[in-house]
Amino acid sequence: ARGLDGRLGELVARRQRAFGVSSVLFYEQPLEIARAEGVFMFDASGKPYLDVYNNVPVVGHCHPAVVAAIAQQAGRLNTNTRYLYESLTTYAETLLGTFPAALSNLSMTCTGSEANDIALRIARAWTGGSGFVVTETAYHGNTSLVMEVSPSSYRKGRELPPHIRTIPAPDSYRLAPGEDLGEVFAGHLQRAIDDLEGSGIRFAGLILDTVFSSDGVFADPPGFLARAVERVHRAGGLFIADEVQPGFGRTGDGYWCFGRHGIEPDVVTLGKPMGNGFPMGGVVTRPELLECFCAETGYFNTFAGNPVAVAAGQAVLDTLQREGLIANANSVGGYLRDGLWRLAQSDARIGDVRGAGLFVGLEFIGVDRAPDGALASHVINAMKERGILIGAAGAYGNVLKIRPALCFSQANADQFLTTLQAVLDVG
Ligand code: PMP
Repeated sequence: ARGLDGRLGELVARRQRAFGVSSVLFYEQPLEIARAEGVFMFDASGKPYLDVYNNVPVVGHCHPAVVAAIAQQAGRLNTNTRYLYESLTTYAETLLGTFPAALSNLSMTCTGSEANDIALRIARAWTGGSGFVVTETAYHGNTSLVMEVSPSSYRKGRELPPHIRTIPAPDSYRLAPGEDLGEVFAGHLQRAIDDLEGSGIRFAGLILDTVFSSDGVFADPPGFLARAVERVHRAGGLFIADEVQPGFGRTGDGYWCFGRHGIEPDVVTLGKPMGNGFPMGGVVTRPELLECFCAETGYFNTFAGNPVAVAAGQAVLDTLQREGLIANANSVGGYLRDGLWRLAQSDARIGDVRGAGLFVGLEFIGVDRAPDGALASHVINAMKERGILIGAAGAYGNVLKIRPALCFSQANADQFLTTLQAVLDVG
């Protein structure tokens, strides 16, 4: 709270007293957010902020259809999931309709972490192995099992467990001339699998965020993941597609980012946008995989898929469809990336612009493409002062992570581009 005056200082001090070191806040001058609507959030004084960071409210903050669905259901019935109510099954049918036919079973969770925990357990049960491969800066969640495959959370000096191997992210920007991204990535994976097996650890699977968000956002070229998935299956493992970040249409060419790669995962995990802010997650897989897992431990979750959650989730799916938001993500995302490339042409500090739909990464560099995390951090704080909220990704924090709600308009994109240009011109 040092350096902060008045009400803000007092709020921060109270929060730190209550939560200790576990209190995590954005920005040196934290924001007190009072309400939100569409793509905007408003602070306590009423100042609007264009929210280009928060990928949870996928159909827009406080979307009236989602708010009404939650409110009506909360006033009628909320209970655990051991009773029969049609809305849950209808929701599952709608959701599963967006997946390849073989992925025909859904398990509900409350968070992405729980979903990944189950996915890892499915892979362990099915393969009898314990070895997993993940990317170097991956994040998959907060349970003790999922933390093992979340190297980005490891603090100095803490080592990965012996049954986990990390591989470099598929860095399309730093590929040597003539190299094929899919080959390079599959090569790293194969060496990791061989290394596990050579240490007497059976390979259980590969878990990837299909847009590589915390690794720095890598979506192209479409199809580059196919070779890696082939290697996983040849080695007897499962491929887990973590769609917690890119899922529900954000990448603009269908509901799921794995679709861009023409691959069929064995397990898909869902979270963040699923309830537009209402805590929801899920695991989609083939029946035989779920059966194998449940034969070992069973699975019950008191809150997951309760009637209110399902109302939120159904309203999200219906709104995505009704408002054509996936097509909007595609067109506005393309418009935004074109604008960012125009900025890059006159500013050598922007090394790369990439992504798909409204999941966009912009990489700041210095000489010889050295990552410039300090510039990203400066831009993030300066953008906030000018009313735009944005985050960073990548091992060096030098990649702007651009992920607005899918109702982001061209006018919103223009505001973002003009402000970024102004911030870069000053600093
Ligand atoms: N997977 C990915 C790719 C994530 O980004 C996150 C959250 N940042 C999770 C899983 C975990 O989700 P949750 O916080 O809902 O447990």
